[in-house]
Amino acid sequence: MKNILLLALGITAISCKAQENKTETSKPIIIHEEYTGVEPTKPEETEFYTPVPPTVIPNTKQGVPSDAIVLFNGDNLERWEHSKTKENATWYVNTDGSMSVKNKSGDIQTKQEFGSVQLHIEWKSPKDIKGNGQSRANSGVFLQGKYEVQVLDNNDNETYVNGQVGAVYKQHVPLVKASVPSGEWNAYDIIYHAPEFNKKGEKIKSGTLTVLHNGILIQDHVEIKGTTPYIGWPKNPPHGKGPIRLQDHGDNSRVSYRNIWVREL
Ligand code: MG
Repeated sequence: MKNILLLALGITAISCKAQENKTETSKPIIIHEEYTGVEPTKPEETEFYTPVPPTVIPNTKQGVPSDAIVLFNGDNLERWEHSKTKENATWYVNTDGSMSVKNKSGDIQTKQEFGSVQLHIEWKSPKDIKGNGQSRANSGVFLQGKYEVQVLDNNDNETYVNGQVGAVYKQHVPLVKASVPSGEWNAYDIIYHAPEFNKKGEKIKSGTLTVLHNGILIQDHVEIKGTTPYIGWPKNPPHGKGPIRLQDHGDNSRVSYRNIWVREL
């Protein structure tokens, strides 16, 4: 029965393909690798023309793809709020197109909430180094406000490796350390897939993170175990969409950010 159904789908697919130049109302063809259960003998049997992926223009402005949402481009913090008070963000906006953590003002987060995303964010630790370990230019990028990718000046600065720069905090050590010298700009490109929860609030699918640090893979589709607290095990409270949050570590980190954009997945 299954093979008959699959065969029918295959015939429909081939039929639709043959007619696609005649009509624009053809339904998208769902691609199944084994849709007929019969080994194809012609190249056309494994070639599909719909659905056509949308076109994205790369590098429209400051390297931003045409379908990205720009969260910070140097002008202002109108897309950001303080995480606790929900008041407009008051971190420093600098003349060089960056923003900097305002010490002890608290974390800031996007006003818009997101699910799974591709996130580009650039960050810089101060050239004049102060502090050691976790107290040297500590900040962080939290996906959905809950899961931290660590930002830290780790150059000649040892700390616990699951809390070093690029770690999924206290869960996943980065594959390598790929930082540029202190005072220069780093880039994170993050692919985040949100966890899924059932109606009872139980997690039924873990979130995942892939992170490129300055173009170098440092987190390879790792499973997020839950929240990333300083003290305690990961927790898995159910949630829907959430903001992208940036950390004020509260010890004068002086970390700066710039060129932040996101693509919803
Ligand atoms: Mg941090």
